Amino acid sequence: MAIRVLAAELVNQIAAGEVIERPASVVKELVENSLDAQAHSVSIEVEKGGVGLVRVRDDGQGIERDELPLALARHATSKIAAFNDLESLATLGFRGEALPSIASVSRLTLTSRTAAEPHGWRVSVIDGAIGPIEPVAHPVGTSVEVRDLFFNVPARRKFVRSENTEQQHIARIVERLALASFSAGFSLKIRGKSVLAVPPASGQLGREQRVATICGAEFLEHAFYIEHTALGMRLSGWLAAPTFSRSQADLQYFCVNGRMLRDRMLGNAVRVGYRDVLFSGRHPAYLLHLDLDSRAVDCNAHPQKLEVRFRDPRSVHDFIFRTVEHALVATRPATGVLGSANRAALFPGHGPGHRDEINALQANAAPENQVGMLLGEPRAEYRPTAVHHHGATAVHATAGTVPPLGYALAQLHGVYILAETSDGLVLVDMHAAHERVLYERLKNSLNGGAAAHQRLLVPVTLAVSRDEAELAEREQHQFAELGFEIDRIDREQIAVRQVPALFADRDVGPIVRDVLADLRQHGTTRRFIEGANELLATVACHAAVRAHRELTLPEMNALLREMETTDRADQCNHGRPTWTRITMPELDRLFLRGR
Ligand code: ADP
Ligand code: MG
Repeated sequence: MAIRVLAAELVNQIAAGEVIERPASVVKELVENSLDAQAHSVSIEVEKGGVGLVRVRDDGQGIERDELPLALARHATSKIAAFNDLESLATLGFRGEALPSIASVSRLTLTSRTAAEPHGWRVSVIDGAIGPIEPVAHPVGTSVEVRDLFFNVPARRKFVRSENTEQQHIARIVERLALASFSAGFSLKIRGKSVLAVPPASGQLGREQRVATICGAEFLEHAFYIEHTALGMRLSGWLAAPTFSRSQADLQYFCVNGRMLRDRMLGNAVRVGYRDVLFSGRHPAYLLHLDLDSRAVDCNAHPQKLEVRFRDPRSVHDFIFRTVEHALVATRPATGVLGSANRAALFPGHGPGHRDEINALQANAAPENQVGMLLGEPRAEYRPTAVHHHGATAVHATAGTVPPLGYALAQLHGVYILAETSDGLVLVDMHAAHERVLYERLKNSLNGGAAAHQRLLVPVTLAVSRDEAELAEREQHQFAELGFEIDRIDREQIAVRQVPALFADRDVGPIVRDVLADLRQHGTTRRFIEGANELLATVACHAAVRAHRELTLPEMNALLREMETTDRADQCNHGRPTWTRITMPELDRLFLRGR
């Protein structure tokens, strides 16, 4: 075949192959154009999974009559003029490709009106040719109608999935766009039915409402807002508590300068930030916005602009991971929090009404509210009585200063601690909580250098399996870093000569034996110890109080007090929740009191 220059129409169709993967891509490109035109509201209508019709209307700046044909021309854009403009890009589009590409594989009509004009103008593209420009009634803004997608490229049409699947894709795309651009309102109608309708969200409350609508009220209920600026970068958004982790990575949203991305590096940075508080194999849930100087990112790296290139990926990664890690340190018991366990299991149907409960808790935490009336009865009746009858700890001078986790009343079946607080009762999973307390203390004692340690007067010799003895020998350095000195003294015997100071007055034999057994079991399936922290976590787990160990009230209270001051105490080393609260109003509701 002779070499020839491809016809413009064919070039557009080929370009469409890159940009327009499926109907949802059309929606994405059109909505991004609306957002670039400063629209306050964008409405999207879809028929037949987007193959029949995609219509996007906005109230943005509009396009002047004479520029309508240009908007449809290939490589025509109002967003950049020179290569250098890419450096300081502030718009979502810049390639000038979307409209001509879409028009080449569909029947497209573009209608627009600027504020300066008394009416709108409409133009259609038929078989690659731009038709006449006609006047029509239209409010200020732009409407784009795309019908019969892929009608002239049957090969592409074969890749379109069922109507239902394509609708799902469209809904997901619109949700992502809405989470990326809070300042615009969005409405999505599929086959005439409203699927999403969110007003422009300006204040924090509005943004939270949008997040709750799209990510679920439960997510927002278990998430906390973060905002951190450093090194010319700003990270803001919502991180779900580690105990709200998911089996799939399906609730993870990351925007960079208003662009929703799917970027491995960014996802990994967040994951690393969560690593100390999450079960392996679980996925964190989050919505994060990273804003930084546009010169530090290159958006011209992916045809659908789903990936970007950072000038200094290392520093972006570290900034994100440190910010997330730092934020998660604060996940520990506090007044005004309902606990780390998912209470939906306890109070089904009660749902996200938790907010009221939290507000009430926070109000009660303020001293001036102590006299507030509750269900018609004096608030004073609900003051904890534990303070008076167990002199467990000396920290409480008056009933007004009850610590967040209150005072222990009893141990339930050797597993849970029951404590009375100023507003109800608290249940603590004693092993899970103790495990975290020990783990954090072990980490702190390491603190960069070698752990504080204590030599044993008489070494403890332990009979272990051959595999375990080998393991102890092989990992001697790791153990030494944590303050253990362990030698193999025979085929199936080891000696423990030195232990972390934390364990100085404990019977360390069983702990070391359990740790070795555990490591050996996991070492076969998984990469061996991933670092000092993992070994510490294992040590903490085996050193923590086991179920059925009887605790005295002072011991229980000591654990509660430690939880309150321990970083990340809301979850054990494996990411399980450690405590929950049942408030007096909830108990009253259970017993129909005050009705
Ligand atoms: P790009 O977005 O990369 O510039 P497009 O093909 O998507 O390329 O759009 C071409 C041009 O048409 C844009 O640069 C913009 O000037 C104009 N345009 C497209 N959609 C809209 C809209 N909804 N409102 C105003 N102008 C628009
Ligand atoms: Mg565009």
